[in-house]
Amino acid sequence: MSFDKLGLSKKVLAAVEASGYNEPTPIQEKAIPHIMEHRDVLGIAQTGTGKTASFTLPMLSMLEKGRARARMPRSLILEPTRELAAQVEENFVKYGQNHKLSVALLIGGVSFDDQLKKLDRGVDVLIATPGRLLDHYERGKLLLTGVDILVIDEADRMLDMGFIPDIERVCKLLPFTRQTLFFSATMPPEIEGLASKFLHNPVEVAVAKSATTSDTITQRAVSCGGKDYEKREALRNLIDAASELQNAIIFCNRKRDVATLWRSLEQHGYSCGALHGDMDQRNRTTMLNNFRDGKIDLLVASDVAARGLDIPNVSHVFNFDVPINAEDYVHRIGRTGRAGREGMTYMLVTRGDKKGFDAIEKLIGQAIAWQDESMEFKARTGKGGKTNKEDEGSSSSTANNKRPKREKTKTTSSSERRNKKTTPKNIEIKNEAGTTATKKQKSKKPGLSKRPALIAFADEDHVPAFLLREPR
Ligand code: ADP
Ligand code: MG
Repeated sequence: MSFDKLGLSKKVLAAVEASGYNEPTPIQEKAIPHIMEHRDVLGIAQTGTGKTASFTLPMLSMLEKGRARARMPRSLILEPTRELAAQVEENFVKYGQNHKLSVALLIGGVSFDDQLKKLDRGVDVLIATPGRLLDHYERGKLLLTGVDILVIDEADRMLDMGFIPDIERVCKLLPFTRQTLFFSATMPPEIEGLASKFLHNPVEVAVAKSATTSDTITQRAVSCGGKDYEKREALRNLIDAASELQNAIIFCNRKRDVATLWRSLEQHGYSCGALHGDMDQRNRTTMLNNFRDGKIDLLVASDVAARGLDIPNVSHVFNFDVPINAEDYVHRIGRTGRAGREGMTYMLVTRGDKKGFDAIEKLIGQAIAWQDESMEFKARTGKGGKTNKEDEGSSSSTANNKRPKREKTKTTSSSERRNKKTTPKNIEIKNEAGTTATKKQKSKKPGLSKRPALIAFADEDHVPAFLLREPR
């Protein structure tokens, strides 16, 4: 099958050829002809199967005719995160090289003024995160009545991030006669509900059973002690033993653990960065670019920050925690083995992880092989069978009691840093809203102020990214 059978325009075909793609992926092959016929499409395909091009290519072809008017975008693409929005923009730039279409991004953490100027000049393609879009709309700077094509991308991630009500609001602001394209890697019931509400007589295009994992990925479970330091050590051993490792993403369930693990890996001399939802836009972009360019080898991330990111050639994915949501496992390991490449993934599994582990095996419909010996899971007694989530507050305090020597030195150094907490340098640290980090800590719940990772960062030369909560 070649691209020129899909009904795409000549300009788009030329750009596709220049980009080096030889043939469409299955989702592209199945979805594009229907989109070109102006049908609503519900596309379900696992992560990394080329869903982005399956809507950008036909959109470019269809938008060739017609002109944009001030403040009235002709098409709208909703994305759950700023990184994904930026990636879709890159796609439009790449495939739209022969077009004169104007593309604008409306995402948090970027100045309103610049975004407004672009809107005023008229845009053909508006790519937005739902919150920022509604902000603009409420300020009266945007008319959505000219939108002919709506794309809701990464719908399952939208659900996880609580964007469904925002999306429902946006849909009601758009013309009823628009064409709607809807893409998701998985299809939980809430997503089905949203799709049936906002798609008109859609063509359903599913290329793989929802929540299947690509067979180019080798998956291993690794049994491991439940203390934080035990998990960190197990992870280091895995990284050191992985001879084929070129670069890796390491997933944690909690933002706090992303910060702690990043710190710990850096202290052990690994080339490492971190990415999570609380970092400001600049730091996230820099971090991601450094990882893409190979300036850092390891990226510690939370699910929210990493969903759908297109980072080619990730050789390994490590699950530092068994994900709380089984579907997150599919998304996490989908960072590797993309577009037919080989990938390797390891997941640390502790005695208390039975529930989460079973849920994953059930969802993906296969058993995950154990690296060495399999875990003897804790018998669930009702009370004792804590989930990962419930462990959150207690894990570091229990770890403190029995820490080995090496960890103790670290504790001392972080308490030294803690003592420096009130130095003027610290107070200088400002976020974009102009409040100081110290102030922010005061307003936190008492239990949270003890986080050593945050305090440790406050002494560093660089401003810690996750102290800077961005304005929406
Ligand atoms: P998804 O949104 O389904 O998770 P993406 O659209 O981000 O996946 O695409 C994943 C990767 O596949 C990207 O690196 C993209 O450049 C690549 N890709 C997309 N279409 C093709 C194609 N037809 N041939 C080869 N690679 C492709
Ligand atoms: Mg995608």
